Amino acid sequence: MTVTDHRPTTTTWRPGPVETARLAARIHVADGRELKTVTSPLTGEEIGEVPIGTAEDVAAAMAEARRVQARWAATSVKDRAKVLLRYHDLVLEHQDDLLDLIQLENGKARVWAFEEIMDQAVTARYYARLAPRALKPHRRLTALPGLVSATEHHVPKGVVGIISPWNYPLVLAVSDALAALVAGNAVVIKPDSQTPFTAIRAFELLEQAGLPKGLVQIVTGPGTQVGSAIIDAADYLMFTGSTETGRSIGSQIGGRLVGYSAELGGKNAMIVTADADLDRAVPSAVSGCFANTGQLCISIERIYVDAAIEPTFTKRFAEATEALRLGNEQAYTADVGPMASKAQLDKITAHVADAVDKGARLVTGGKARPDLGPFFHEPTVVTEVTPDMALYREETFGPLVAIYPYASVDEAVREANDTEYGLNSSVLCGDVKAGARIAEQLMSGTVNVNDGYASGWGTLDAPMGGMKASGMGRRHGRDGLLKYTESQTIAVRSAAAQKLQDATADPEGFAARFTKLLKAAKHLPR
Ligand code: NAD
Repeated sequence: MTVTDHRPTTTTWRPGPVETARLAARIHVADGRELKTVTSPLTGEEIGEVPIGTAEDVAAAMAEARRVQARWAATSVKDRAKVLLRYHDLVLEHQDDLLDLIQLENGKARVWAFEEIMDQAVTARYYARLAPRALKPHRRLTALPGLVSATEHHVPKGVVGIISPWNYPLVLAVSDALAALVAGNAVVIKPDSQTPFTAIRAFELLEQAGLPKGLVQIVTGPGTQVGSAIIDAADYLMFTGSTETGRSIGSQIGGRLVGYSAELGGKNAMIVTADADLDRAVPSAVSGCFANTGQLCISIERIYVDAAIEPTFTKRFAEATEALRLGNEQAYTADVGPMASKAQLDKITAHVADAVDKGARLVTGGKARPDLGPFFHEPTVVTEVTPDMALYREETFGPLVAIYPYASVDEAVREANDTEYGLNSSVLCGDVKAGARIAEQLMSGTVNVNDGYASGWGTLDAPMGGMKASGMGRRHGRDGLLKYTESQTIAVRSAAAQKLQDATADPEGFAARFTKLLKAAKHLPR
């Protein structure tokens, strides 16, 4: 394992207490609430404090958001889209302080923090371009063209609630909000208590870009308190987090008959075929598994490799894993940062210990690295994993991957699909047509051919989300925008239709005239 000098190598802007206090002042809670300290997994330093909000704070935030939303909904979609385009520019312009905040709050290496910047900018641009087209009222075919005309409208839901996790503090807190906002909604958001400042800074930039003050309300605090109050009051809920929490939120929100979209956990599989070019497959597999320190819902935790090439693949994959640079610099020098918390470190440590105890072979890694920082863990590869080991089925959500040899592609597909999850999967192959045929058999919301996850996620124009226990609903694409609206059909009956009815006052005559009309309208879909 190559280890870089982990002392900061550049002098960068660092959010000190004054700056974080300024950001915390944007949180919508009553004065005098208890405070929670936010500590950096990167440096171990205190980053700042945020208030512990209550259900009353959420109620007040909802009321204010509703008040501002009424005006925002009356603004043209084009004008709303312009705000997103200005935000796109501001994100790129202010990337250094956003990168610092993301790294400080989450610990991730800078290159993966930049992945968030990139994603945020292209998402803002994508929805700014799509919204005016997708939200425009559309004429719809009626049963009796000429007699009835109809238009479909997209009406904002009202106030969208967002509950987000800590692993992508910018993308998962703000991207869904961009779609909800451009559709004419207000947003009340509870970012994760470990990573609130990135979200607050991003919403500050959105205001700078022209978003009305008060349209986005941020309330920090525990999920069971603040999250629960948002679930009880929002007109639509977007949740990203674990399957366990997603299930509990689903049962809470179901009774209210409001829409709910959830992006949940995964145990994502990769299939490597015998004809894969290992010079390309190995780096793809390494980034697919260890990007963001493996704390990525769509990253790969299981690799199925054709038995004919498995020994070579495993050797080369282990060498490439060992070449990854661990470090906590706020510069583009490390590949892998620390894990985000003690809970995360404990989970991977337990999965590795359990697997090794039960006979798994540790190919590389396997140890925590307290010499580098409190939550560092080596990227780890295991083989000879059996179904009685916890990591066989459970999501680790860390830099731990198991490699399994397979005898036939059918067996690999069967094994890959043998999971309660269905978020993302990957096929690394030589013949991409054959790879696409394998992809069609995999039961996950995205499948990447010759990539781990980035191509599927980055296809912003297509829906992204989970099958089975990995979620419900989709983000990205039209689905990710229109879910924040109610479809409303306005049908207008013409004067000619009225005349027709008047002329056929007797029901028998009306039936005869109507039958004739239907026969004449042969061009209509049946
Ligand atoms: P989590 O479910 O514990 O927490 C996510 C958010 O929900 C946090 O803000 C938390 O405070 C809040 N929350 C917790 N309990 C709640 C409750 N009862 N009511 C309302 N809100 C509540 O998840 P986590 O550990 O923070 O994140 C890791 C998990 O998220 C992993 O399973 C990962 O796969 C998943 N994830 C999924 C995606 C995706 O897009 N599918 C993306 C990132 C993370």
